[in-house]
Amino acid sequence: RSREMLEKQDKYETASRTYTRFFRMAVDRASGSTVMDVDGNIFIDWFAGICVLNLGHNHPVVRAAIERQLDRLVHINEVPTEARVRFMETLLSTLPGSLRNRAKVMFTVTGADACEAAVSLARHVSKGRTIVAFGGAYHGVAGHIVGATANWHYREYAGLSAQDIYHLPYPYTYRFPVRMAEEDVSKAVVDMLRYLIRDPYSGAGKIGGVLVEPVQGEGGYIVPPKDFLPMLREVTEEEGIPLIVDEVQSGVGRTGKIWASEHSSVTPDIMCISKSIGGGIPTSMIAYRPEYDEGLPPGFHLGTYRGNPLALAAGEAILSYLKSSDLLPRVQRDGRKILEMFQEATERNPKLGEVRGLGFMIGVEFAGKDKRPEGEYVERLKHALFQNGLMMHSCGHYGNVMRFMAPLTIEDELVEKGMEVFERESRKLAG
Ligand code: PMP
Repeated sequence: RSREMLEKQDKYETASRTYTRFFRMAVDRASGSTVMDVDGNIFIDWFAGICVLNLGHNHPVVRAAIERQLDRLVHINEVPTEARVRFMETLLSTLPGSLRNRAKVMFTVTGADACEAAVSLARHVSKGRTIVAFGGAYHGVAGHIVGATANWHYREYAGLSAQDIYHLPYPYTYRFPVRMAEEDVSKAVVDMLRYLIRDPYSGAGKIGGVLVEPVQGEGGYIVPPKDFLPMLREVTEEEGIPLIVDEVQSGVGRTGKIWASEHSSVTPDIMCISKSIGGGIPTSMIAYRPEYDEGLPPGFHLGTYRGNPLALAAGEAILSYLKSSDLLPRVQRDGRKILEMFQEATERNPKLGEVRGLGFMIGVEFAGKDKRPEGEYVERLKHALFQNGLMMHSCGHYGNVMRFMAPLTIEDELVEKGMEVFERESRKLAG
């Protein structure tokens, strides 16, 4: 039946899909950290909709919140509802540093949408146009259509052309482009940033904001050195440039704290939030310094579906659960344990490059001699794992990093079972 449904999907839907290339199945249902296909095969889910299901599929707390909201109201635009107000109060209570209980919230719909709103806001505040991002970054695929919207009011700060972006290398110590001691890498990146900002002939133009992932996601599950975010905070503060932290993938408990920024005690000026915040219902938002609200015109960044009550009811339940349960200490403890399990599983694998991670954001980079990326091996491994009942996805500059992003609620047994499959299949394929 999966084959039949895949055939129909091929017939009706765009060929540009990617996930059905390696997860060749049609899905019937899912629960916790398992997914059942339409033929009754059960898969262990280390994918979690790409960090969308941090509490797992169909978590009773999330489900109950959505059901309660469903009885009342499915959508209304911007008018306060209990779900909206409660969500904002709970969200604000979780934010890092001086954003806590003070930040302003602007709702958006997708991760990319949140990042766009953040960039527009940063530019509005700083009056700079160029945004500094980092090699390997992923902030979404969007951003052209505002140019077709006639009202200049919307176009003034929005829309990023490639010319408006300057990419600095992320402090990816395993593949840093310049040979230097690991402990010097953060400083090198931040010095380059300072140069871009200060040297009028650097070519960067007036910098309007710095956009960074606190742990890089699609770029390869790269945990930057501990001093990186604090140094970035220092220079952006000094220079009066808004620091935008994209927590779309790293947030909502994924790294063992509600926000990955908390690990380095950094307070962003603007935070981008999406994925798991809606528990599977699309929603996103930015939270930012309240001073940035001054002079912000109404309708600064728009979207019909912003702040959907079902998603916000789910989000409130999820954040409350993270605050009150013992899940986050578990993620910290078990994250370290699972990282060690990956190290052991790949100990004698000649294709292993590096195992790294924070909480339940763990990357296993495969590379051969002289760090030659093993992207093809990872492609074959992904297939082999799926054939053996394990859904695991990859990432990285060369598609050569396997990433562990299981629900934070996954049972030990499903970690162990999956790890057996991972160890066996990765060895077999490495020869
Ligand atoms: N930022 C980060 C860090 C992401 O990982 C993603 C999605 N992978 C996005 C933004 C874009 O989110 P969306 O796909 O919802 O637009």
